[in-house]
Amino acid sequence: MLSISPIPAFNDNYIWLITSAEQPEQAFVVDPGDSEPVIQYLKDNNLTLGGILITHHHPDHVGGVANLLAFAGNNIPVFGPHNPKIEHITRKLKEGEQVEVLGTAFSVLEVPGHTLDHIAFYSDKISEPTLFCGDTLFAGGCGRIFEGNAAQMHASLDKLAKLPSDTQFYAAHEYTLGNLKFAKAVEPESEALQQYIEECEARRQQNIPTLPSSIGNELKINPFLRSQQESVRRAAESRSGEAISDEVEVFRVTREWKDNF
Ligand SMILES: [Zn+2]
Repeated sequence: MLSISPIPAFNDNYIWLITSAEQPEQAFVVDPGDSEPVIQYLKDNNLTLGGILITHHHPDHVGGVANLLAFAGNNIPVFGPHNPKIEHITRKLKEGEQVEVLGTAFSVLEVPGHTLDHIAFYSDKISEPTLFCGDTLFAGGCGRIFEGNAAQMHASLDKLAKLPSDTQFYAAHEYTLGNLKFAKAVEPESEALQQYIEECEARRQQNIPTLPSSIGNELKINPFLRSQQESVRRAAESRSGEAISDEVEVFRVTREWKDNF
């Protein structure tokens, strides 16, 4: 059984730390943009670092890797994408490959769009299906399209949307309230959205992370997983001032709208 804990970093990043009941002295971390809070957490909890997962090349996801390797003082696995820009990766991964995290198998999903090298790690071998998706899917939103195009990002999100609805996903940023404000502008009449906003506001008031969220929840409230819905299409049409028949175009207009929101 795996446990997953957030280590807050920078303004709004989460570095997810994974431990296993079977190997309680070891931990993996996902996207350590900073080493200092991770080292502190490991020390406070008497853990050694067993390995690192990397989703994409952005500095707030990889900036702590070198220091963590020096701290760990041994050859721990660093799993990440095929990207020569990222140093220290011991195994470069492609779609469908598997990695072992504290005895649990995770499979690799390629999800280009935010960056071209972006991958996600998914496991259905534990009690709840679990996904580490970096900056691709957020609670109530999705990553900006920096390197790919709207069709790529839409396809990547669609791949994640098709995972089991009880999949718990761990995104790398606490962007939820801002995302939901935008989601409300797209679908002002959604009761599911209003209810989720209230839940997340209550959590943030107590400084509790809004993550993980589930794929099933996002299908109800996240405009970027809802391009096929009439309400989202109509909102995109009124934003762009023209009729839109294509789902990818709905997504593209909605993403551009959020970029300027
Ligand atoms: Zn990023």
